[in-house]
Amino acid sequence: MAVLLLLGALVIWGCLWILKSPERIEDVFQGARMIETEEPEGSPLIVLDAGHGGRDQGTSAGTVLEKEINLSVVKKLAEELEAAGAAVLLSREDDTKVGLEDRVAYANEKKAELFVSIHCNYCEGDAGVNGLECYYKESSEEGKALAEQVVQVIEDVDEVRCRGTRVGDFRVLNKTKMPAILVEIGYLSNQEECRKLSDETYQEVLAEKLAEGILTFAPSAATDEKN
Ligand code: ZN
Repeated sequence: MAVLLLLGALVIWGCLWILKSPERIEDVFQGARMIETEEPEGSPLIVLDAGHGGRDQGTSAGTVLEKEINLSVVKKLAEELEAAGAAVLLSREDDTKVGLEDRVAYANEKKAELFVSIHCNYCEGDAGVNGLECYYKESSEEGKALAEQVVQVIEDVDEVRCRGTRVGDFRVLNKTKMPAILVEIGYLSNQEECRKLSDETYQEVLAEKLAEGILTFAPSAATDEKN
């Protein structure tokens, strides 16, 4: 009898505990570096945001999923930036769904100096459309300057087609407090670009050149590379 009472009490306690914690932070940020206690060293502090994740696959073409390409490019970009002395945090570092508000809150809370979101595009009506686009918030002069620096570098790369800078109405741009860009690195709806975006070597080129553009805007990270 005493054992049954004890079991009953445990079940009730368990239910109450689950009810009072509907959204634990570990669930929201599972996989993100937010749970790290140590701040990364270096300058500037940059939050890289791999679009989509988990059940949210983003756009796709056959077996090629946007969420996977975004994360792969973000990881390569993080390596490039860290090698140049920047401190990098990722809004997700595995196949986890992270909400848009959480991505924004993360960057703002960490007081990131720059925010760079990576996505792939898709054009429903025209498979011929291809190229990288760099978006910024209309009211942000700094965001615009960052986008222009990135595009200036990318335009000089033969293997990457660049469609220039654009004003974008995206939540991660509108609500982040630091200079922010969202880079649509190419169109999965274009067969040739989809093949390129799936290729690790091409992803390396993109990461290297994006890093170069970002660091041109924020040269404090690469003082040894300046002349
Ligand atoms: Zn996307």
